[in-house]
Amino acid sequence: MIIILTGAPGAGKGTQADLLADKLGFKKVSTGDALRRHIKEGTAVGKRAQSYMSEGKLVPDEVLLGILQSELESAQGKPVLLDGYPRNVAQAKALQEIVGPQGISGVFHLDLDKSLLVERISGRRTCINCGASYHLLTSPTKVEGFCDRCGSEVVQRPDDHEDKVRVRLEVYSKETSPILDFYKDLGLYHCIDGSQSTEKVYDSLAAQLRSLA
Ligand SMILES: [Zn+2]
Repeated sequence: MIIILTGAPGAGKGTQADLLADKLGFKKVSTGDALRRHIKEGTAVGKRAQSYMSEGKLVPDEVLLGILQSELESAQGKPVLLDGYPRNVAQAKALQEIVGPQGISGVFHLDLDKSLLVERISGRRTCINCGASYHLLTSPTKVEGFCDRCGSEVVQRPDDHEDKVRVRLEVYSKETSPILDFYKDLGLYHCIDGSQSTEKVYDSLAAQLRSLA
């Protein structure tokens, strides 16, 4: 079984992917992580990727697909969860060719309003000393601006500033949202209300997964 978890930045994909791996035994496949591993281990495909990167070029889709294919082969019967791939319709089409018509069992979209995504990401704060994470609305520090654990200053990562978040969401909706229509046409699309609590989102995911089996 191969499933795809998708959603805008801030939708909670990472958390849900970890839960699916822990509780249901999914092997998480992230092309980014796999790419870093291949480069570190110096495999043939890793060396090819490295040669593009050292020239400051993007790693081409065909190299990423080669990596993806070897990850899928090494899953050894475990259910696979694709995290962060495909990112655009061209990659989604190429993926269909690798896995064949029966390959993808379902595509799960963690759906949230843009305003909520902005609120979730731009409210994140991190301690500059111990790295503890907080959120202005959902898990604020006891003393505003200072870490509960060590008393150091808590700050917002530059990437999480509201204007940067809006740009990231723009890129997502332009490049990645069209894959949702692609999978709707294939009858594989499932929508999950991502505004619910972590537990409720997980329960709806698990329930929809059971209905596939
Ligand atoms: Zn701290």
